[in-house]
Amino acid sequence: MSDLLERLRGRGWRLTSQRRVVAEVLDGDHVHLTADEVHARAAERLPEISRATVYNTLGEMVLLGEVMEVATDGRAKRYDPNAHRPHQHLVCSRCGTIRDVHPTGDPLADLPAQERFGFTVAAAEVTYRGLCPSCS
Ligand SMILES: [Zn+2]
Ligand SMILES: [Zn+2]
Repeated sequence: MSDLLERLRGRGWRLTSQRRVVAEVLDGDHVHLTADEVHARAAERLPEISRATVYNTLGEMVLLGEVMEVATDGRAKRYDPNAHRPHQHLVCSRCGTIRDVHPTGDPLADLPAQERFGFTVAAAEVTYRGLCPSCS
């Protein structure tokens, strides 16, 4: 069983065949799919699965905290199953490939107190942009 499925099952999430297919499609390393991509891949395995079901299922996984939404500049929102290990993203400006990366410093700690404007800061997202090996 995949890691994401195992986590969802551990939370008592009822695994219908539709939910299972969405979780299987989304599982793995460096996975950052748009909802439409998830739907296309899920439909290869379960042709009757509707786009609405995929969208709802993704939304529930996000609410459970087992999948993260990743916004990359104007492109469609992407879904990332790597929700428990804090990481940042490396994005290819040409083809849109995304890799999970783990900077050696803590981006949250890197923001000095005088730059926080009294905010209680809980999280930081850093996007590193450039060209992937196939595009450069
Ligand atoms: Zn590229
Ligand atoms: Zn990621």
